[in-house]
Amino acid sequence: MSGEKKRILLLATGGTIASGASERGLRPEETGAQLLEHLGPLPYEVTVRDILTLDSSNIQPEEWQLIARSVYTMREGYDGVVITHGTDTMAYTASVLTFMLPGIDLPVVFTGSQLPIGHPLSDAPENLRTAFAMAASGEPGIFVAFFRKVLLGCRAVKVRTSDFDAFESVNLPPVAQVSADGLLVRRELLPSRRSVGCVLRDRLDNRVALVKLIPGVDPALFAALAKLGCRGVVIEAFGSGGLHFIRRDLVSALEGLVQGGVAVVVCSQCLYERSDMSTYEVGRRALEKGVIPGGDMTTEAAVTKLMWALGQGKSPMEISDLFARSLEGELTVAPAT
Ligand code: ASP
Repeated sequence: MSGEKKRILLLATGGTIASGASERGLRPEETGAQLLEHLGPLPYEVTVRDILTLDSSNIQPEEWQLIARSVYTMREGYDGVVITHGTDTMAYTASVLTFMLPGIDLPVVFTGSQLPIGHPLSDAPENLRTAFAMAASGEPGIFVAFFRKVLLGCRAVKVRTSDFDAFESVNLPPVAQVSADGLLVRRELLPSRRSVGCVLRDRLDNRVALVKLIPGVDPALFAALAKLGCRGVVIEAFGSGGLHFIRRDLVSALEGLVQGGVAVVVCSQCLYERSDMSTYEVGRRALEKGVIPGGDMTTEAAVTKLMWALGQGKSPMEISDLFARSLEGELTVAPAT
């Protein structure tokens, strides 16, 4: 590498990567500085901040806000940010930061590992090196680096519990890959950047529920969610967005929610490809009642976009409009027919 070293900010939040054994099982304990020691010399100037020490199953909207605010307030003077984070909920954090930091002006790269960095066979060093390379790439955005691949944060999903190739980029190829030629970034896959500059939009409304349909689900479940104060519901429906309406009428139940001012987003239980509720009667009936189609968004992106949109004070009508558009690459907008 020639010229000045790139300046990278490392924000450590915990996760397996930083974990060690305890009587109660693995739990995070290593600091960001200790993580770096395992890597040896790096061709970057790295500044470390320990902002959390949590297993990511304990990371919730309050921590998302802390992480987003940390990136926003500390990023000045850096070329990129690496965030070490547990893998279990990394896709949620990467998705929500995408919405909370629109116009992000530097690379922000999440990474973690399946084995603690202190384990002799750990995948952590490789993942960290990929994350640092992406953070030094100059490509702004929120990303996940894992198994020598870089995924757009709002397209990442954890698909394996123990294999090192734990993440997949759903409905969009990885935006960068490491090979013998180095880190190759596929710029054509990156969302086009607006030149408005980075803003912090960190208000969230976590009164959102996610329901995965099972055949025969009692429609009363949805009225109960409204009674509990839910302002938004994401439904993982069948196939391309189907819901049963015979015997147990989910369509009327959703109509009740919509009429009560709840924003109802319908995605698919299928991981890949897009839902299209207009194809079948079992989808179209719900569409006619005002539910919002989730298209080919991941569940993680749909849930966090909904929490974020509600947090911004948007009405169900405005949310419907937001879900018809790709804000940061989270949605493939179907060409008009
Ligand atoms: N339970 C861990 C976490 O999400 C798993 C991991 O990091 O791989 O924090």
